[in-house]
Amino acid sequence: MSKQGNIQVNSKNLMPVIKKWLYSDKDIFLRELVSNASDAIGKYKKLVGIGEAQADNAPYRIEIISDEIARTLTVKDNGIGMTEEEVEKYIAQVAFSGAEDFIARHEKAGKDGIIGHFGLGFFSAYMVAEKVEIQTLSYQDGAKAVRWVSDGNESYEIEEGTRTARGTEIILHIAEGEEEFLHEHKLEELLEKYCKFMPYEIFLNPKNNGEDTPVNQTAPLWLKDPKECTKEEYEEFYTATFHEFDKPLFWIHINVDYPFRLKGILYFPRSKQLDFNRGEVKLYCNQVFIADNIKEIIPEFLLMLKGTIDCPDIPLNVSRSFLQNDREVQRISRHIIKKVADKLCELFDEDRAAYEGFFNDIAPFVKFGCMKDESFYDRVKSALVFTDIHDKKFTLEEYKQTLTPVEEPIQQEAEGAEKKVSYKIYYVTDPDQQAQYVQAFKENGINALIMRHYIDIHFVSFLEYKEQDVRFLRIDAETPESLKATPEGVDAEKVIEVFKANISDEALKVEAQALKNAQMPAVLQIGEFMRRFTEMNRMYQDPNTKPLAVDQTLVLNLSNPVVAALTEMEEEKLQVVCPMILDLAKIANKPLTAEELSAFIERCCALLNVAAK
Ligand code: ADP
Repeated sequence: MSKQGNIQVNSKNLMPVIKKWLYSDKDIFLRELVSNASDAIGKYKKLVGIGEAQADNAPYRIEIISDEIARTLTVKDNGIGMTEEEVEKYIAQVAFSGAEDFIARHEKAGKDGIIGHFGLGFFSAYMVAEKVEIQTLSYQDGAKAVRWVSDGNESYEIEEGTRTARGTEIILHIAEGEEEFLHEHKLEELLEKYCKFMPYEIFLNPKNNGEDTPVNQTAPLWLKDPKECTKEEYEEFYTATFHEFDKPLFWIHINVDYPFRLKGILYFPRSKQLDFNRGEVKLYCNQVFIADNIKEIIPEFLLMLKGTIDCPDIPLNVSRSFLQNDREVQRISRHIIKKVADKLCELFDEDRAAYEGFFNDIAPFVKFGCMKDESFYDRVKSALVFTDIHDKKFTLEEYKQTLTPVEEPIQQEAEGAEKKVSYKIYYVTDPDQQAQYVQAFKENGINALIMRHYIDIHFVSFLEYKEQDVRFLRIDAETPESLKATPEGVDAEKVIEVFKANISDEALKVEAQALKNAQMPAVLQIGEFMRRFTEMNRMYQDPNTKPLAVDQTLVLNLSNPVVAALTEMEEEKLQVVCPMILDLAKIANKPLTAEELSAFIERCCALLNVAAK
């Protein structure tokens, strides 16, 4: 005999509101139903464990069955089942009021939304179904099978059901326009995304002939004791989960039970994949997929990595902004950062040569992490590796040991003021373009570090701020003392005057200095401060905005015979030679513009003519 009942909700028309929230994410209904099925099995297993229920030999399983002709999609489990009272209580009351709560939470979360639209539960079936039917049989002795059906509005019907085995079937009568959820490939895709690591075997349209294979891995590698995992297992899991065929550089297995639960594996991909747009850190809650790349939980710089993080303790029913400020979440996030830093230090200590071999690949990640999170920097700073112009590797401390410190007054003007020791560190951003400078450095035994990644421009400023005793100067920023020579009988003022009179750039600052290296007639110096400022500006601004002025000085090399001879040179030659000296210095500093290049070529030709005279 069937019985009518009323659904216990205060607000009418839940559906349109929920549909609005979940418009682009209806897919989650399958995750919610399969999670319920998995929870029902878990509950039954627990009862068996404590002797409250009788074990049978049937393996625990969840089946997803689609019937395109009948237009039904069924989620079937052999879990705890429900009695008639339970259906009335849990479905008609809990599930529906749960949907009301969901709306309330969503409204509270505002446009931030709730991560992974978590927690709508059973009611989400109505996202795609016009009618939902339940067939269930409780595990309890003498329980009767129950059938419940409702179109999700105000009433439902309940009567004796047809199930003869313990468990529940949720039968969705798929609504008009939602037919894709009957297609096997669509269901496969959803199960792969949301249910790939759920704890009980899931079968899609099984034939039940003993040959079916589950769509999920019930014991994902992150749950296994790290001591028992092999390299092959980690690599296999990486390929299967991220569809990457390059092997990862290394990985970090996080396995915490106390004071919070946190398990997962983070992989460092090979360099070409280490980039913000390619990172993929999947968040799970008890093996159920929630969402990708949640920066409120996983520190943003770690989103360059690939990995799975399972964190059952994270409150998923709250807004993203709430999560960001949640102390528990911050603790979890700090723990992940610490683990990554510890791993880097461990690799550095264990096999420095191997570590140095791949450090360049991960350097942008590590540097970005340092700048994003100072505690990360403090932990990894002794494992930060720098490469010099001879391809030798150093930590910053080691490199400092090779330099002679300079003493600088703390306050510029104060007489007798306290002095602080600092280290001048020259660096090269483009070894090819700056080859002339590098060569001069090498010839005179001066060293420089290679800092060629775009992140380095920020990183050098960061290091100066953190370390206080280091000052970074690009190799073209000044002439180091040990490159200078004593001028011999050349009138520097006169040389500058003659030179300036023969170039068209009146604003150019020109100085003269004898250099040990006599070959180059002049070098261009680009002031460090203005250059950094300009480059940073360019990074954040529209590339079409006019670049800021660069603080550049041309230093004429008084040791160079051509420069030394300028004061004696005839007018005709000066007009070719002086601009030519300027061109050469520019070329050694950065590529010429199209205009400058044409003028340079013209001058070269003119010079050839002079030579022929
Ligand atoms: P939640 O799972 O968050 O409690 P739901 O709306 O998904 O909320 O489900 C409400 C309740 O209905 C569950 O707590 C559970 O008691 C019951 N339930 C749902 N699906 C099943 C199932 N497949 N087997 C047994 N009980 C179920």
